[in-house]
Formats: sequence, structure tokens, C-alpha cells
Amino acid sequence: MEKSLKEMLFKTAEAEKENLFALIQKLIQIKSYSGEEGEIVEFIVSKMKEFRFDEAYHDGFGNAIGKIGNGPVKILFDAHIDTVKVTETENWTHPPFAGVIEKGKLYGRGSVDEKPAMAGFMMAGKILRQIYGGNFPFTLYIVGSVLEEDADGYPLYHIIKNEKIVPDYVVLGEPTDLQVYRGQRGRMEVKITATGKSAHGAHNQKGINAIYKLAPIIAEIEKLDKKLKPQKPLGKGSITVSQVSSKAPSLCSVSDFCQIHIDRRMTIGENKNTVVKELKDIIKKHKSDAKVSIPDVAGVSWKGTQFAQEAYFPTWVYDEKHPLVEAAMKASKDSIGKAKSGVWSFSTNGVATAGHFGIPTIGFAPGKEELSHSSKEVLVLNDLLKAVKFYAAFPFELIERLAKK
Ligand SMILES: [Zn+2]
Repeated sequence: MEKSLKEMLFKTAEAEKENLFALIQKLIQIKSYSGEEGEIVEFIVSKMKEFRFDEAYHDGFGNAIGKIGNGPVKILFDAHIDTVKVTETENWTHPPFAGVIEKGKLYGRGSVDEKPAMAGFMMAGKILRQIYGGNFPFTLYIVGSVLEEDADGYPLYHIIKNEKIVPDYVVLGEPTDLQVYRGQRGRMEVKITATGKSAHGAHNQKGINAIYKLAPIIAEIEKLDKKLKPQKPLGKGSITVSQVSSKAPSLCSVSDFCQIHIDRRMTIGENKNTVVKELKDIIKKHKSDAKVSIPDVAGVSWKGTQFAQEAYFPTWVYDEKHPLVEAAMKASKDSIGKAKSGVWSFSTNGVATAGHFGIPTIGFAPGKEELSHSSKEVLVLNDLLKAVKFYAAFPFELIERLAKK
């Protein structure tokens, strides 16, 4: 990227600093729990219009969508704008929705996960529009997605499948502490169900206890977790029995129904087929007739749109040599003076873009992942300014790299 152009982008970002900090403060002050994002979406859309985006609206699901430029390469910046709830037992040093700024830090729910990226993306869009009037070799979609905390991936799945916006490249705004993240472990949920025959507890030999059918399977699953092998760079997968439920005619009867719920994290080489097979193998080993199934995640958005998706969120990772990753590393070096790559431990909307659709995806944003969903969420405001420089410069680096290939 041309030096003079880069300097102009960075200088304009510096000049917008106070506006940027006011914007992220406002986003923190608008409470936006999953499924209750209407107010923040309206605010974001009106801001996008004020910033003279070419298009700004909310889609059929309720995601905020802005568009700038008309170039052939479609780049999508996504920040989910819903947050998890604040519970009464959480110990906040600053009120979670006041947007308190102290010594260059902003406190509050969403100040890590992941409102800063929304403010950063919008500000980068404003700067690009200001300098270029939308005349650049790419089309930039800036998305404030909803319901991510309840249904990771679905908001972008909706945009691609139902709104027919199919990006060529995606940048996620989940916290990376200003590193270039290039993958995540996948996850899925599985149920194993056993049925038996109920009988009076006093005549238990006449029944078949469904709980006893699953007991050895639960023990095998515990052993399986220890046997899972790590894979670079994502580490090892995991398997956890997260719930056991059972039914019986009364508490004095043999249980005729038992079900376990499993949380499975998947590394490279693990997918829906391998996970189901390893569980079926355990069941077979114990000569059990228990059944394996994958549940649906379902819900309704703030706009009243219903959705359901299978609880399967595929693993994805991109090589350091991928042009998208290379472009991001270069943009990082230029905008923050260093570049490091990494991966997320948790799940992101990348399960849809990269996992389901194979669209190259990375992430870059301020904030430490491990502070997400905690009362320790805090944003170093200068890190957000650095991120804005990255967001503004990155598309040009990508286009340059694509031209070389
Ligand atoms: Zn998040």
C-alpha cells in the first residue's frame, strides 16, 4: 500500500479519535442482550447514514447492514452487537451500562465482546468514504449481527443464504488482543437417549433401568476426553457430558427414559461424522440400543424472525500463507507496529462463513478473549484507535496481494 495513502488514512483516524471514543461509549450505554437488539440496531443504522454509507438498513433477521463502494472484491466486516446478560452476582467495579471512561479505559458489558469492533468498523467505513467517496476496488459490507451469543454463525448464515450477500472475504470483530486470528475449534451438541421399561421399585427385577444403560457410556465418554489428541494450531478437542435427565412414573419406580447432553469441541480432523461414529462405537461396545442425535438450536430474533439450525458448528483454520492472513499481518505491522497470529478458544460467526461456506475468514480486534462474559470486561481506548487504522488499511493490502497471485 502506498505510503502517502496509508499516512492519510492513519492521520484521518487520529483526527476522528474523540468521535470514535464517543461512539463506543454510546454503544456500551445501549443495553443489547441477545434477542433484544432493536434499539442498538436502529442507532447503528442511523449512524451509518450519518457517515454517508451507500446503504444502511436492517435485514430480515434484524442484523444492521451497511455497504460502501462498488468494487469487484466483496469484503465483509462482522461484529456481533448482542451481549450476554449481567447477573446479580457479578462484581462490577464500574456500572456495566454507564460507559465509564477512566484513565484511557472504557468499562462495561460488551467492552470486550465485542462492541469495540462495531465502533471500529463504522469509523473505518466513515474514513474510507470521506477520503475516497466510495471509489475503491472493493465493496465493503459492515455488519452488526444479532443473536450471536445464542446461535453462533446463524446471523451470517442468514445474510449469505437469505439476503444473498455472499462475501469473498470476512473479518470478524471478536476479541484477539490486536492479533490476527485465523481459526477456531468447532463445536457441536449431541444427545444420547436410552429407553427401558418402568416397574415398581419393589419389583425392580421386572423393569429395565434406562439410567443403568447410560452409566457405562458416560464412564467411557470421560475416558474418551483424555484420549483426544492435540492438533496444531487449535490444540485438542474435548467432550463433556453437560446434563443428565431421566424419567420414571414416580420416584419409587424404575426409570424408563434417560438422556445425556454432550458438549463436544472439535479440533482439526474432527467433524460431525467422526464425532457421531466414536459415540456409536462406544454404544456398540456396550451392546446398547441407545440412540445418538444432534439437537436443533432454535429461537426468534428481535424482529420476530424465527430460526432453527442443527447444533453443529464446524472447525475452521487458515494457513499463515493464505493471502488473507498475509494481508492482515502486513496491515497489522503497518497500523500497530507488530503482527502476531493466533486462534480463538471459543466459537465465533466464522463457523458459518468459514466452517459452512468455506469463505476465507480472519479476526482482528482489541480486547482479551478470556475477559469475555465476565465483570472484568474493559477496553483500552487507544487499542481501538489502532484497530481502526488496521480496518481502514487492510482491504487495500488484501487487494494488492490478490493482484500479485
Ligand atoms: Zn463475541
